[in-house]
Amino acid sequence: MKLIDTHTHLFSDKFAEDRHAAIQRAIDAGIERMYLPNICSDTTEAMNAAVAAFPEHCFAMIGLHPCHVDENYATELAHVRNELATGKYIAIGETGLDYHWDLTFKDQQHDALRQQIALAKEYKLPIVLHTRESFDDTYELIAEQNDDTLSGVFHCFSGTADEANKVAKLGGFYIGIGGVATFKKSNHAEVLPDVPINMIVLETDSPYLAPTPYRGKRNESAYLTHIAERVAEIKGVSLEELAQRTTENALKLYQSK
Ligand SMILES: [Zn+2]
Repeated sequence: MKLIDTHTHLFSDKFAEDRHAAIQRAIDAGIERMYLPNICSDTTEAMNAAVAAFPEHCFAMIGLHPCHVDENYATELAHVRNELATGKYIAIGETGLDYHWDLTFKDQQHDALRQQIALAKEYKLPIVLHTRESFDDTYELIAEQNDDTLSGVFHCFSGTADEANKVAKLGGFYIGIGGVATFKKSNHAEVLPDVPINMIVLETDSPYLAPTPYRGKRNESAYLTHIAERVAEIKGVSLEELAQRTTENALKLYQSK
């Protein structure tokens, strides 16, 4: 069985003591590829070091996380542009909008997202979207700019059936399902049965949102197997089929452009 963790912050300080061991544990568990979404210019170096140590298994994205958009976001976006010019990134991410923590820079978050959508189109790279309490506005910006070149993923998706349908209608967009699907109170058991398997990719979002039975602890890519098991159960397919289909989806999304 082969799986792809499409969203894992293995460069986080939380892995300072055992980063390479954590990546090796994931590889040993069948997580063949790990896709690393960047946060801001402070994390680029650690991310690229992890990728350099495991070039067959780890792949880097470049972008500015909405929680790190502040009055200096123009400088941060210049960093994203400079890095993109090197040609070594598989996606723009993570970007999006976050209305949960702080609304001080809401307008700047919108502008940063718009600029990163433009970069995704220019470089023909998929875009990785964070939509915490902001699905409608994120969706609207994507729908407004959508064309044949734009593709991507609504990461950490825990929305409604209506929201999943809206993502499906965009064409070329996927939903990323993570540890929340294993929590008793999540709505995935109601929503996912009607979502076509060809729009699902798996993710841990490590070090955050560890799946059951590790809930509350540090998450790592090796735990993706628990998420895959739960999603297979909800979808009523074998773990092998779920692994194969979601791996195909991830490869299509990240290599199609
Ligand atoms: Zn993330």
